[in-house]
Amino acid sequence: MRYVAVVCPRCGMASAARSGAKSHVCPFCGARIDLERASAIASGSAEEVRRAVARHNEAARRRAEARRGGGRGEGERSDAN
Ligand SMILES: [Zn+2]
Repeated sequence: MRYVAVVCPRCGMASAARSGAKSHVCPFCGARIDLERASAIASGSAEEVRRAVARHNEAARRRAEARRGGGRGEGERSDAN
């Protein structure tokens, strides 16, 4: 079975949907995504799509965290590269 990784237009998170489906519900915010209009960032096997989703969401989460906690550098986690 083939899958596509789509980005939710509402929350910006990616999730995997079945290729050929018409719509998909975002697991993060519950928005219904029209797969014919949504931008797919990857397609292929479940494995490939899952990786693309994870990569996209990790970047999105980092951006969100940077925006939220801008300023204070000290904390329990300091794994800066
Ligand atoms: Zn969403």
